[in-house]
Amino acid sequence: MAEIKLANKQALSEFVEQECGVKFDPSMMFDVQVKRIHEYKRQLLNILHVIHLYRRILNGDTEGMVPRCVLIGGKAAPGYAMAKQIIKLANNVAHMVNSDPLVTPYLRMAFLPNYNVSAMEKICPGTDLSEQISTAGKEASGTGNMKFMMNGALTIGTLDGANIEMLEEVGHENFFLFGLDAAQVAQAKVNYQPQQIVAQSEALNGVLSMLKSGHFNLVEPGIFDHIIASIIDPYDQWMTAADFESYRIAQEKVAQTYLDQDTWQQISIRNSAASGRFSSDNTIAGYRDDIWMKK
Ligand SMILES: *Cc1c(COP(=O)(O)O)cnc(C)c1O
Repeated sequence: MAEIKLANKQALSEFVEQECGVKFDPSMMFDVQVKRIHEYKRQLLNILHVIHLYRRILNGDTEGMVPRCVLIGGKAAPGYAMAKQIIKLANNVAHMVNSDPLVTPYLRMAFLPNYNVSAMEKICPGTDLSEQISTAGKEASGTGNMKFMMNGALTIGTLDGANIEMLEEVGHENFFLFGLDAAQVAQAKVNYQPQQIVAQSEALNGVLSMLKSGHFNLVEPGIFDHIIASIIDPYDQWMTAADFESYRIAQEKVAQTYLDQDTWQQISIRNSAASGRFSSDNTIAGYRDDIWMKK
């Protein structure tokens, strides 16, 4: 299984270099989020974590860090301005990360345009870590989550959509769960104060300061102001600030686990083995019995 994964990571590296011009290294962890760009899917939370890792590297705080290649891919609806700003931010952060030779041994990042099924056929088998990090209560099911699971990726995710059934099948010890659940999201909205959350998190405060400083848009002043404002907005529906610390800690657990490759491999195989519930045969049989044939 490890040999197969490595060969698929090599193939994915070639694809990423050809499509994005970024060199991925198959000896690093491949951390992937590909799906339509939408605020509820929280590509932004993923980018904030990349900035956090980038800051740690610049500060020399690399103890226990696992070298990662982060891939974000997806299309935005033509009129969805915020989604396009998130794509722009992903590209700008990737540019800063990839152009610093002190950073690239630990961190690389690419944004893949034109994400489609042909791309997914290469991406899915070459992924170590699947990002399924939507705000709880927002994702109807998700199918990318299942494709990655079948192909031996480990999942970092919220209690949302089919992540819930995946967790049931594979068990808590084989899934990196984080964040508020749907009921807690509803509760937290009553008196949401993201400014306070930022003030209490050294990591999130550092990330936001770096964003505000214009580090990622030196020649394009102000272009990320709307994104920054959305994170500290008490009416932020997506609760990005609320889940940041718990996401960061779950990502540290991912890194710790990856350092022990025997354990990682075992969890990977268990994920593949536990994914039968999501096979097309089972899904279609379920539709036949529960929907079409139901009296
Ligand atoms: C699987 C897939 C999706 C759906 O991904 P989600 O993570 O479930 O949103 C969208 N587009 C393509 C090309 C896919 O292969």
